[in-house]
Amino acid sequence: MPRASTTPSLPEQLPVAILESNPHSCFLLTESLDFAYCNSSWDRFAGENGGGTEVFASHVLSRKFLDFVPLDLRDFYAGLFAAARAGAQIMQHEYQCSSPTDFRVFRMDIYPLQAGRGFAVFNSLKVEHPHTQAALGPSDATYKNENGLIRMCSNCRRSSRVDNPDVWDWVPSHLDRHDVTHGICELCLDYYYRAYRKHKPA
Ligand SMILES: [Zn+2]
Repeated sequence: MPRASTTPSLPEQLPVAILESNPHSCFLLTESLDFAYCNSSWDRFAGENGGGTEVFASHVLSRKFLDFVPLDLRDFYAGLFAAARAGAQIMQHEYQCSSPTDFRVFRMDIYPLQAGRGFAVFNSLKVEHPHTQAALGPSDATYKNENGLIRMCSNCRRSSRVDNPDVWDWVPSHLDRHDVTHGICELCLDYYYRAYRKHKPA
């Protein structure tokens, strides 16, 4: 790939703590897209969506991710992983996954790890829907800190919640705002900068 020479080296792995701190389902796949790890939010999310015990983490581990994707979408998802690997780049995809009470859209981010080490997959709630605005935001109270600023990751541009700063939501309307302070989320810090720091002289 022409861009390979400028792509920073990919991490070998991501700390489990980063996947565990995410309130949505996150998982690791092997290079051949078998489940290697599901975070503890996985079962809660699976339960909420009426999946039954056959989709609980203990049942999906070692099975193929694509077996859990509707047949019509398998080529599409396989293509996302192939593109992430080929370009050494994060692939993003938005999908609807409503609960019985809320219309919800999630963003899936597929992070390629080093070749042969598989992929990390993170889901973030995309907060941008008027019908659920009262329940989910993007009310300023959810995101504005004591200084009246929204803390946004300068890399992935997700916004941190005030009541739980480890939760980062994708709030598109925040991208146009000026009352923003920038930081970096744990995921971006680890994914992009750990390998860089490791290779940099202290
Ligand atoms: Zn980030």
